Amino acid sequence: MNFSPTTHSSAGHSYLLIISLLSLLFLGAPTTFAGENFGMVLHGGAGTISKGDMTEEMEAQYRQKLTEALEKGHHILKKGGSSLDAVAGALIILENSPLFNAGKGAVFTNNGSNELDASIMDGRSLQAGAVAGVKTVKNPILLARKVMEKSPHVLLSGEGADTFARGQGLEIVDPDYFYTERRWKSLQKVKARENLGEPEKSPDKKHGTVGAAALDKFGNLAAGTSTGGMTNKRYGRIGDSPLIGAGTYANNETCAVSATGHGEYFIRAVVTHDISALMQYKGLSLQEAANRVIVDKLTALGGTGGVVAIDKKGNIAMPFNTKGMYRGWVDKKGNITVKIYRDE
Ligand code: ASP
Repeated sequence: MNFSPTTHSSAGHSYLLIISLLSLLFLGAPTTFAGENFGMVLHGGAGTISKGDMTEEMEAQYRQKLTEALEKGHHILKKGGSSLDAVAGALIILENSPLFNAGKGAVFTNNGSNELDASIMDGRSLQAGAVAGVKTVKNPILLARKVMEKSPHVLLSGEGADTFARGQGLEIVDPDYFYTERRWKSLQKVKARENLGEPEKSPDKKHGTVGAAALDKFGNLAAGTSTGGMTNKRYGRIGDSPLIGAGTYANNETCAVSATGHGEYFIRAVVTHDISALMQYKGLSLQEAANRVIVDKLTALGGTGGVVAIDKKGNIAMPFNTKGMYRGWVDKKGNITVKIYRDE
């Protein structure tokens, strides 16, 4: 898929070149590339998502929230906001919804706590920020950004990260804020099966992370990911989402990528950086690189999940190897597409 016009006549090209050279002569170098391509792609988790398991009402709620987040991202990008702002702005909406396994709707650990992970990366500077195992921060994606912009570090964890959030004036909530009956019941179900010694039937049912990747008018790429992790994870477990290069990666020279799926496999396959590296060192297109890593490499390892990605030209790719992935994208004109199942 491509947001950019695919055909240009060479006559059109030379005409544009002359106009640009003339404007350089008379106006000086442009400070922005306003009017260039921009867009955003996002996910709300991958897993065993099938029509049979979903009521019409639930499906409509998911589609509506994803659309709202895409509208937010587009609004920010359209008025000349940065890809970082668009990613954070869209993800806050998903974190505040109980539908997704991030922020409010985070899943429970094996000891009944909620431990949240998030990360964000700026493709222009290759700066990144991330947090793992936070318990009192309403919007972990904002904390990840604070770590990137207001600390000399990349990754803060646990109590230190919660304390840093308070110091930065972020909204702090009681850990009970993250209690939702739906997630609590899932924990009880998984534990009951575990106690019976039954293997988890479909481990990929537990996914539900949120993530976004955006290209702004200035040619800057950014990606971010936020999650509660996996239901019944051991407390203290850290997944791929806060790990730069595994769950999140952005580089203006290649692409911006956010992942969702069984984190242990994404860490071992270094998924998001691998996609960028295949583009940078091997010259693969975004789609080829993303397919190579998700469809071939991750699947061969036994991992389940997917990614959403956008490149510096505005091409997007969203491969996944699960039944479904909540996903959507918006182009520069504001056209929004949202999909859930594999075949739609
Ligand atoms: N990747 C996340 C984790 O392993 C879970 C998910 O994407 O659903 O923590």
